[in-house]
Amino acid sequence: MRTNSRGVPRNGGLLLHGIARCARCGHKMYVRYQNGGEYVCNHLHRHQGLPTCQYVRAPAVDVAVAQAFLEAVTPAEFESFSAAHKV
Ligand SMILES: [Zn+2]
Repeated sequence: MRTNSRGVPRNGGLLLHGIARCARCGHKMYVRYQNGGEYVCNHLHRHQGLPTCQYVRAPAVDVAVAQAFLEAVTPAEFESFSAAHKV
């Protein structure tokens, strides 16, 4: 039997999975799909035995990221839309 190495897409995946970095220590944060989702910075804990740096509740972060994304993208989208229709 072959295992599908590409994995199964998760429903409700968090926006910053694999790209969030910790504002305190700069290390990559990992995603934990428990308690509604959390970004966890445990690099220092895992590699140096220090306390876990921080946990951030993911839903509030994702909402803020989505809003910032839409605010950043929308004017550019309108520009390219109107530019395309001037021709
Ligand atoms: Zn950290």
